Parts: sequence; structure tokens; C-alpha cells
Amino acid sequence: MNPVRVRFAPSPTGPLHIGGLRTALYNYLLARQTGGVFVLRIEDTDQKRYVEGAEAYIMEALDWCGITPDESPRKGGNYGPYRQSERREIYAEYVKKLLDSGNAYYAFDTEEELTARREAEKELGNHNFRYDASTRMSMRNSLSMSKAESKQLVEAGTPYVVRFRIDPGETVHFSDTVREQVSFQSDELGDQVLMKADGLPTYHLANIVDDHLMEITHVIRGEEWLPSTALHVLLYRAFNWEPPVFAHLPLLLNPNGKGKLSKRDGAKFGFPVFPLRWEDEEKGEVAAGFREEGFLPEALVNFLAFLGWNPGTEQEIFSLPELVEAFDLKRINKSGARFDIEKGGWYNQQYLIAETNEALAPLVRGVFGKAGYEISLELAGTIAGLLKERIHRLPEFFTNGRYFVEPVTEYDEKTIRKKWKPDNRPVFEALADSLENQDDWAAAPIKEAVVAFMNANGLGFGAVLPIIRVAISGSVQGPDAFEMLQAIGREESVQRLRMGYNAFDALKA
Ligand code: GLU
Repeated sequence: MNPVRVRFAPSPTGPLHIGGLRTALYNYLLARQTGGVFVLRIEDTDQKRYVEGAEAYIMEALDWCGITPDESPRKGGNYGPYRQSERREIYAEYVKKLLDSGNAYYAFDTEEELTARREAEKELGNHNFRYDASTRMSMRNSLSMSKAESKQLVEAGTPYVVRFRIDPGETVHFSDTVREQVSFQSDELGDQVLMKADGLPTYHLANIVDDHLMEITHVIRGEEWLPSTALHVLLYRAFNWEPPVFAHLPLLLNPNGKGKLSKRDGAKFGFPVFPLRWEDEEKGEVAAGFREEGFLPEALVNFLAFLGWNPGTEQEIFSLPELVEAFDLKRINKSGARFDIEKGGWYNQQYLIAETNEALAPLVRGVFGKAGYEISLELAGTIAGLLKERIHRLPEFFTNGRYFVEPVTEYDEKTIRKKWKPDNRPVFEALADSLENQDDWAAAPIKEAVVAFMNANGLGFGAVLPIIRVAISGSVQGPDAFEMLQAIGREESVQRLRMGYNAFDALKA
């Protein structure tokens, strides 16, 4: 495939939704695969919906995932500016071209007039008034007025919008890499506004002017834009431009597979739908982020890549470079992709397991630090190694491993009732004494000492290990008991055994 130029074109109206991140990822993959260019364009022409901080959030999310754009507002490039609000003059120039060629016209109808007309139509039983070929001649615009009249209004500074003139009765065809042949009736489109009264272009105009000027070869975006594409195709034709290749990505569905994945689903099912935590102080809005919930970016990227695409093989674990290699627009699914967060957790676990303990140590240390415990990198690395196969998200290193830093306060009562024999207390005291004198405090020699003790007292693992485990960690589950003893340390372990025996006696009393 020839090198592509692709773009991710979010509107900075809030935090980047996980579906948007998937769009960015697919664009990135195609760019890297073909030796092409990945552009970030900020579509901020709708000033009413502009949200402070959203652009910075988008860039941080892309950086965190390792899919940094080649051209962007921050990085620049030969096709800038990359923020639509800085391209006003460009759009004005292209709107003029459409006005000159008769493909667009001035419309002077005020909001009040439009509302009044809509109301009047409703009275007549028509609830879907549309500004189009069938109605435009009864509205106030440069097609219904004389040239002189409209010229005079424009020159007098009368507010106006510019509308696209769409001819009725046409079937608009275009091909889409995912959807194959798509067609729409031009009658359904209406004479869309291209430039608003504030002089700023609408999404449609700015989007296609920029895609053309930025020499975008492939438009890869969410399925919700499919209906707009018909309009875009007509705009390309009006300008006499070659449209790019389109690929519309399937919707992300909620975990039930019913309906679009929404912000509310995240709250309802207890998982993030945003890459990073988002806080909107003004609105008092807080949304959880995958990063803060303890996902590794590589795992999130791998998980997202598979929501709507698959390589056609059994392989599920793909690094970013492997995804670049394997990605194929033709293998994108048509049907919606169910957002299965458990699968996401599985991916994260696979990446945790594959990481070295040394690499995880700083992250684990961070997790404990957040919980108020300063631990050494060495201990953090040990905890990483002992727990990574048992957890799915980073904070679980602490929630599952608090006993590495905290004395036990709750014991697994069921096990104790079954396994603790108060008559054996003197024997277990002797075990604590012998461990207190154990010089070489490492898992293997500790194990040797415990085995020797068991043999001398005629006890098996089944009688001794549950007692040790519950005393030092509260639970019978967990990693290797001798590794745990080593990590907890001699003095603390012996103390916990003795405290445990007291608690066990009390339980059985
Ligand atoms: N600004 C649009 C959005 O927010 C871009 C859609 C497109 O990629 O054309 O999704």
C-alpha cells in the first residue's frame, strides 16, 4: 500500500471517549504500516461546545498510548494550522468558491423566522420541516430573492448563513472499505449550513476542506459519521475534488451487547470508558480513566485493537509494532463490538505477567505509595513477582497484598475452625521459636526448617501451612507461603505467628 496520510479529528468537547481512542489507534496503525503520516486535527469550530482542557487531554491520552501524531497543533507540520479555529480565512475562501459556482447560497432567515416556519408547518401536520429544494424558494435567501436584493443585504451587514444547495432526486453512492457500497437519497439531506452566522464553518465544510488541503488519503472514523458522508461526497463533487477512501468503524456496544457504549455504562458497570481520569470542576464531573484504574497502556491498546478488528488467526497478544504489521482495514468488522471489560482485564493481566519484576517494581511502589506506604524497590519487585499472576489491575497489588506491609487484622475463620487445634499450641510455639532463630531468612532455607519441624512432630503440610498462611496474611490463598515469609521478614513473621495463635485460640474458645 502507498504511504497514507490519515487524520484523527476530535472535537475538544470533553474527555476523549474510548471509542475515539480506538479511531485514533486504527489511523495510527495504517499510517505506520504504510510509512505514512498520522495527523491530529482539532475540530474546534463549535464554540458553544468547546471545553477547556479537552485538547490537552486528547494529546496526553495519545502520548500515554504511544500513538503520538506526526503532525499536530503541538508539533506543527507543513499542512497547518492544525486547529480549525485558526483556519477561519481558509474556510471563508472556500465558501466563496461554492457561492461563486452556484453550489451554495446566502440565507438570511433569522432563528425566529425559522422557528415560526417550523411551527406553521406543524400546524399543517408536517412535523419535519426541512430547508431544502422543496422549501427554499419560500424562504429568505439569495435564490429566492433578486441578485441585487441579496447583494444589498450582505453589504449592509445583515447576518446570514451559507447553505449548500442540494439537488433533489439523486441517489448518492460511495464506497466504504468496511460497509462496501453505500447509498443515500439526496432528498434526505437538506440544504445544510456550511457557514454559520458567526463566520465559522460547520463541521461538514471544515472537515472536507481540511481533509482536501491536508491531502488526507483515508478517512477512518466512527460509524456515526456514515450518514454525513453522503453530504461530504456531494461537497467533494461541488469542489471538483477527489474524495478520500472512507472506512467507518463499527460502534462500541455496552457489555450486554445491547446499545451503544455510553458514559453512563461506565458508571453502571464499574469500569472506565475514558483513557485518563477526567475532572471537570465547573460541572462537578469526574470520570474514571484506564490509566488511573491500573491498566498498562500496551494492554489497553491491544484490547482496543481487537474491538472491531481481528487478525484472522488465534493470536491475541500483539505489541504495538505487531499490530502495525498485522492491521488490515479489510478485516474490520461491520457489526458492533461488545465492550467486554473482563477481556480488558485479561489483557492487562497478560501484560503484567509478561513484564519483568524489575519493570513493574516502580509501578508497584507507586501503588503502595498512594496507599500511604513507602516501600523499597526491592520489596516492590518481590511483590510484583508474587502477585502478578493473581491480579488484573495495578491497584490490586495493594488490595491483594496489604499483608506485605500491614499486620493482619482479619483471619479466615472457616479455615481456623477446621485446622487449629488448641492442643497443638505448644508445638506451633516451638515452630515460632525455631523460625525466630532461623539465620538464613530466604524462602528455601525457611522451607527446609519448616519441613524439618513437621517431620520431627509428625505433621504434614496440610496441618501446618494453612496455619502459617492465615497467621501471616489472613487467608489461605496467596502466593508461595515461604516466599511470603521471606518478603514479610523474620521478626514481623514470627510476631504474626504468635499473634495469630492467640487469635485462633480465642476463636476456638
Ligand atoms: N470532529 C469530528 C468528531 O468529533 C470528526 C469526525 C471525522 O473524523 O470526520 O468526531
